[in-house]
Amino acid sequence: MNTFEQFEQHESGIRSYCRSFPVIFKQARGAELITREGKHYIDFLAGAGTLNYGHNNPVLKKALIEYLENDGITHGLDMYSEAKERFLETFHRVILEPRSFGDYVVQFTGPTGSNSVEAALKLARKVTGRSNVISFTNGFHGVTVGALATTGNGHHRGAAGVPLTDVSRMPYANYFGDKVNTIAMMDKLLSDPSSGIDKPAAVIVEVVQGEGGLNAASADWMRKLEKLCRKHEMLLIADDIQAGCGRTGTFFSFEEMGIKPDIITLSKSLSGFGLPFAVVVMRRELDQWEPGEHNGTFRGNNHAFVTAAAAIEHFWTNDEFAKSVQAKGKIIRERMQKIVRKYGPDSLFVKGRGMMLGISCPDGDTASAICREAFEMGLVIETSGNHSQVVKCLCPLIISEEQIDQAMSILDKAFGKVMGDNVANQAS
Ligand SMILES: *Cc1c(COP(=O)(O)O)cnc(C)c1O
Repeated sequence: MNTFEQFEQHESGIRSYCRSFPVIFKQARGAELITREGKHYIDFLAGAGTLNYGHNNPVLKKALIEYLENDGITHGLDMYSEAKERFLETFHRVILEPRSFGDYVVQFTGPTGSNSVEAALKLARKVTGRSNVISFTNGFHGVTVGALATTGNGHHRGAAGVPLTDVSRMPYANYFGDKVNTIAMMDKLLSDPSSGIDKPAAVIVEVVQGEGGLNAASADWMRKLEKLCRKHEMLLIADDIQAGCGRTGTFFSFEEMGIKPDIITLSKSLSGFGLPFAVVVMRRELDQWEPGEHNGTFRGNNHAFVTAAAAIEHFWTNDEFAKSVQAKGKIIRERMQKIVRKYGPDSLFVKGRGMMLGISCPDGDTASAICREAFEMGLVIETSGNHSQVVKCLCPLIISEEQIDQAMSILDKAFGKVMGDNVANQAS
């Protein structure tokens, strides 16, 4: 009997990650996944950035269990609940206020990142009365039609079945290498009434492109982008769904760049526990919604309010956690640079920022072969990038240094197996 019979017989062919990791997982703790047979894997995928605080984080689990045992509200549409009140208060006090976003308001959208992007785009179009939006090459903002129009990935776009419109694609930072100033290019296009680019409502951008291959915009580029937005009266939407919640070493990925997006989307690790949860954070003046205009049954997830508030309270009331993320990011980067030097100083390079890092390989086949080898040795790790050429390390931020060491040793061996020839060349 086939081990995966239930899935292969009864689940749609749409399933994808399971194809890279053909085992049945039963439990998970911290940075580890455990199969039905009891095999342990270190998780360098972490729900694509949804499990920044690890699987079943005991602090969050305890808060949720207590809430459940007290018959706390599970579902209440968007009615006032004590859990929501606590989340709003905590998020404002610990995250927004100290980062000079104290006057921003929070919109609870449907519980997916895509839905918060949909809401952000709708709002920008409603407020400005314009339909065009600028998004970037290799950007990923979700796969519902409005969000998909801003996403670059051809595989996902191909499934839309309808035209994906009202978006002008612009080259991301360093898309043409570091000699080409893509901001100046955009400025020229936007200043030319005959360029063919309709005046946009907004620019939507990832400060580090998660799915697009860990392309990281510099602080300088982001500041210039913000200036460009002000000059051409476009709203700046920072999609921090993957890069946010501490992944780059600060709560928001743009925090130390001195910019202030008009709208921020957050999801993935916001609940902290892997529960579905998404928000749009916006400048108060932009909050021109009529009640219920962007509706949804699951706007705000009370269980997620509980775990999100607990996560913010536990990890963000001082800078200890942020500092540990920065330190671990450095360790991982150094280990990656070692791998690069060892197996391909001319063909491999490290990409990303904080604990959002990867190694770019010559092609997608190489990267996926490396991930397959790593999985055999007990490491769950995936590729990203326009050609799936980047081996992406997205481990839980709470991972121990021992686990990092273990995982990086596995990754080293996997690179060795797949790129062994280069080592031979280097030695000769
Ligand atoms: C994952 C992601 C989304 C989409 O979120 P879903 O929950 O998958 O709909 C949007 N933007 C970015 C940057 C993401 O990483």
